[in-house]
Amino acid sequence: MTDNNTTTPEAKPLDFIRQIIADDLRSGKHHKIVTRFPPEPNGFLHIGHAKSICLNFGAALENNGFCHMRFDDTNPSKEESAYVESIKRDVQWLGFGWGENLFYASDYFDQLYAFALQLINLGKAYVCDLSAEEIRSHRGTLTEPGIESPYRNRTTEENLALFQGMKNGEFSEGSRVLRARIDMFSPNLNMRDPVIYRILKVAHHRTGDKWCIYPMYDYTHCLSDAIEGITHSLCTLEFEDHRPLYDWCLDTLKTPCHPRQIEFARLNLTYTVMSKRKILQMVQGNYVEGWDDPRMLTISGIRRRGYPASAIRKFCADIGIGKKESWIDMSVLENAVRDDMNNNAPRVMAVLNPLKVIIDNYPEGQNEELTAQNHPQKPEMGTRTIPFSREIFIEREDFLEDPPKKFFRLGPDREVRLRYGYFIRCVSVDKDPITGEIIAIHCTYDPQTRGGSAPDGRKVKGTIHWVSVPHAVSCQVRLYDRLFLTENPDADKSVDFKEHLNPESLTILDNCMLEPSLAKTLPGEYFQFERNGYFCADLINSQPGAPVFNRTVTLKDSWVKIEKS
Ligand code: ATP
Ligand code: MG
Repeated sequence: MTDNNTTTPEAKPLDFIRQIIADDLRSGKHHKIVTRFPPEPNGFLHIGHAKSICLNFGAALENNGFCHMRFDDTNPSKEESAYVESIKRDVQWLGFGWGENLFYASDYFDQLYAFALQLINLGKAYVCDLSAEEIRSHRGTLTEPGIESPYRNRTTEENLALFQGMKNGEFSEGSRVLRARIDMFSPNLNMRDPVIYRILKVAHHRTGDKWCIYPMYDYTHCLSDAIEGITHSLCTLEFEDHRPLYDWCLDTLKTPCHPRQIEFARLNLTYTVMSKRKILQMVQGNYVEGWDDPRMLTISGIRRRGYPASAIRKFCADIGIGKKESWIDMSVLENAVRDDMNNNAPRVMAVLNPLKVIIDNYPEGQNEELTAQNHPQKPEMGTRTIPFSREIFIEREDFLEDPPKKFFRLGPDREVRLRYGYFIRCVSVDKDPITGEIIAIHCTYDPQTRGGSAPDGRKVKGTIHWVSVPHAVSCQVRLYDRLFLTENPDADKSVDFKEHLNPESLTILDNCMLEPSLAKTLPGEYFQFERNGYFCADLINSQPGAPVFNRTVTLKDSWVKIEKS
């Protein structure tokens, strides 16, 4: 990638979270801001996480604070260190760093256990022998209160002994849990004696076999925040109802630090699914090539597709941070990518569907070098030379045997300009005698028109791109379309979201022709293929000198909405 600088914040009003931070600094409530990004290492990160990363790391950076990288690794049955590594790579690729501040919730298992003993001693936690099913049915609903567990009034001694027994592996999985003793009549279901520890006889990717009880997310999260001295704990709106529990844990345990949880609206994007669980289903069912399939909006997928990190940061800055759920159209993301690449991508010529043109009056065996600009608006990006010869490839769709009037490209006896080259006029067509397919066209060129204009002042309307046949580098190009056919594949819960997959989301073109300057392309380098879009050399399938290109994005917005089915 060419650019990993963080975007400079634009002079626009602060979002409500940055406003709270600014107020807290001004009032002296805090002198140093500490935020955290707390992924669970149970899958790869997606574009939704990028919003949270840009907010947490961004707000800390802007205020000279710190953002901790914390793995929320409390569920060993779904977590792996491979996910930890991919998450680190993704955050760094987005342009952020955590310095020394790399943490794992599992680092706090001893402290969390000690806090649990403290809760028991305060009469604020008890061991419950109800089954998961019974706990659920006792919990009540939004309109009905819960039912107190028959184990709720166990003595402190009994609770301490049983909890230690749980820790020592004396009981089977699911037979007992530790619950906070709060209020079964609370209007907030999260406060109805939530489970805070469960037995799981599963090895953990960091603590190995040391533990067979694991703390639950809500209990772990607030305490990890407090242990690390987080000032602002930023999370998505679905945690709003969990905030009373967050505060209850910290108040009850009288932690010296009490971070403030603030919720913001998650990113929802059309034509995609964004839950790790659903992405995992697509990976495991081989609906896509893997977590980093360029059609997916995982960070590793968009990196491979060629989206620049700077475009993602710009996108996150543009959509802003709010309190109301909303949907962002995929075209907004694509426009951010297009703008960024338009600024930075060198222009080159590549023919995706080649048709051979023989220039009858150009001497056989002759070559010449034409000069081409690397970026029309940026002369500082320099020029390069492109070889021209008697045989060239043009785009098959740039020739029509029977063109309509408004078709300004090639047709019989029509003249067109070759980008950076000459005018050519079509004089005849070679067809396959059996199939009738056009296999080549013959043209003549006007030697007076080198550079693109005719001394006699005659005009041509069309300019087409081309590649010299003997100099062309053949390669594979992958074109991507939306992965789903509906705006919200998740909307109808009675239909599996995978039913909405677009069977034509990937087109592989095996015989594309590149101008020779692209022979040296390195994986990850990107270009504008003139008239065809922005393309990036695939990070996995490209070899130095043998690129495979992904179309990152088209030149114009092609996300015309399809009718909702
Ligand atoms: P998923 O539902 O995709 O598995 P998650 O919330 O379970 O996501 P975590 O690893 O727990 O994934 O998320 C880490 C952080 O990223 C959390 O603070 C979470 O709120 C935030 N986050 C996840 N998805 C989004 C999203 N779509 N928009 C903004 N922030 C998000
Ligand atoms: Mg989560």
